[in-house]
Amino acid sequence: MSQASDRCRLTRRAVLAGAFASAALPAMAFEQHQAPQYSPPLDNREDFIRWMEVNRGEEAPLLANRWQRYLALRSNRDIWEPRGATAFLMTPRDQFVLAHDMIRAYDNAYLGIGYGATISGPGIVARMTSALEVLPGDRVLEIGTGSGYQSAYLAHLTDRIWTVEIVGELADRAKGKHEKLVGHGHQEYASISAKQGNGYFGWAEAAPFDKIIVTCAVDHVPQPLFDQLRPGGTMILPLGPGSMQHVVKVVKASSSFRRDTVDIYHGKLIRFLPMRV
Ligand code: SAH
Repeated sequence: MSQASDRCRLTRRAVLAGAFASAALPAMAFEQHQAPQYSPPLDNREDFIRWMEVNRGEEAPLLANRWQRYLALRSNRDIWEPRGATAFLMTPRDQFVLAHDMIRAYDNAYLGIGYGATISGPGIVARMTSALEVLPGDRVLEIGTGSGYQSAYLAHLTDRIWTVEIVGELADRAKGKHEKLVGHGHQEYASISAKQGNGYFGWAEAAPFDKIIVTCAVDHVPQPLFDQLRPGGTMILPLGPGSMQHVVKVVKASSSFRRDTVDIYHGKLIRFLPMRV
């Protein structure tokens, strides 16, 4: 795949919203930005599975595994608002792992995807995505496309996604995966722009971004990425040397070069693949 961007843009669509139907999660205050356009039921397993079978053509056993993982992510507060819940539940993680790992797709574990890369565990993906607080219409850049799962997940939250992967074979495979899924009715993934390249330098032509998510480890905040964040924008990244990182949320101050950082795991160390240079 060349450096040229592969842009395929849908007209801006209304995004998922909705409310948890039961009183099971009373602490989850959230703002509803737009009326829901489509969304599976979030309050019971059977209705969710039936809705997904009918509307997405997916199969019950994998949907049951996805639902089970969703419940765990909710109770662990990796997912804490309904748009994020819908995004997780609508994204077929089983399609982004290697075929022989499909049955393990909803285990709380990272899995190898070839070329020395991994798809991060569902808990990490969910927590980083939740902490990014993507709003409808946000311009979001992901560094480290890998399997393409994270960008697909994000595509349920906004229709403006850019993703950069340094390994050409992975970039090609993820692009092919998104295209195949679009062909199977996952129209959201047509709004993902993907390219092969060194994500340290971001995607200058598409900047500024409202949100940036880095899914490989760095020992400092890459200046080009910080520069491509709009004032007031947010970046989530695994920060730290060696094999363990703190996952931090960096908020770029609106009026200066100042930044505020928060550890989204409250000090717990998480292992990420290093960013290649
Ligand atoms: N977000 C991915 C998983 C990330 S694993 C997913 O949803 O599956 C980290 C990925 O970052 C790997 O695919 C690795 O090849 C990629 N990567 C490493 N260094 C990079 C760089 N400098 N620029 C872009 N991608 C990079």
